[in-house]
Amino acid sequence: MTSTRETQELLEEGSGARLGPPDPGRAPLKASVFERMAGANCALLPLFPYHDAGSIVPCGAILRGAPDAEFGHFFHFNTAEEVVVVFGAHKAMLATGQIYATQPLHGVNSFLRDPADPEAFALITITQHQAEEGDQNEAVIFRCMKCHQELLRFDYDATPQGAANHAPAAYGGSEDDHVAMFPTLWGGTEAAAAFDEERVRTCGKCGHVNDRYPIETWGWQRYVVQVRTANDSRRALDEAAKGER
Ligand SMILES: [Zn+2]
Repeated sequence: MTSTRETQELLEEGSGARLGPPDPGRAPLKASVFERMAGANCALLPLFPYHDAGSIVPCGAILRGAPDAEFGHFFHFNTAEEVVVVFGAHKAMLATGQIYATQPLHGVNSFLRDPADPEAFALITITQHQAEEGDQNEAVIFRCMKCHQELLRFDYDATPQGAANHAPAAYGGSEDDHVAMFPTLWGGTEAAAAFDEERVRTCGKCGHVNDRYPIETWGWQRYVVQVRTANDSRRALDEAAKGER
């Protein structure tokens, strides 16, 4: 959880450098990615509650093939760099132990060779380094499965808390949230909802009517609702506590 600036200061101090005390806003936490993902409600779940400016944000994803599984396909654009670590995979396009950095614009699908194969699985983390300052932007892009024509591009502001232009309302959050909404999961939910309309899914170039995006598989809508419910619950508790005085 060391920021780039802190790392730089450590390097400048030379070989005798010692890690300073942790950022009081980010108490050190540890988690088993396997345990955490066994109970996760969605793919790309932040493993730790820190995704403010400068944070390094590991997110877990757990995927399994099934005869009727649908994963869909979209492209993700992210000004923040992402690094994928494969903790375990079988019959997947990823190998156990593999580590790679994604391009700013990259495709997202099941990563399984045959999504209908129940033996195919992958458990990975996707880690992004939040901007120390300045804006962060993302987009979810759907293309025609037949001719690759762009059908929908949903751009959203993902500037983290602590950066000058942070505006949680831009991604379904609120300044007084106890649990910060993770912008990528809100953006994916909104983009999939917009893509639900047949008019949007119908390719203007080749006429192909593309399938709706199977967001249920990814759990993002559930995540968004649960974050809102957790925050509403916390506000209700705060209100109740005021009444006790
Ligand atoms: Zn088309």
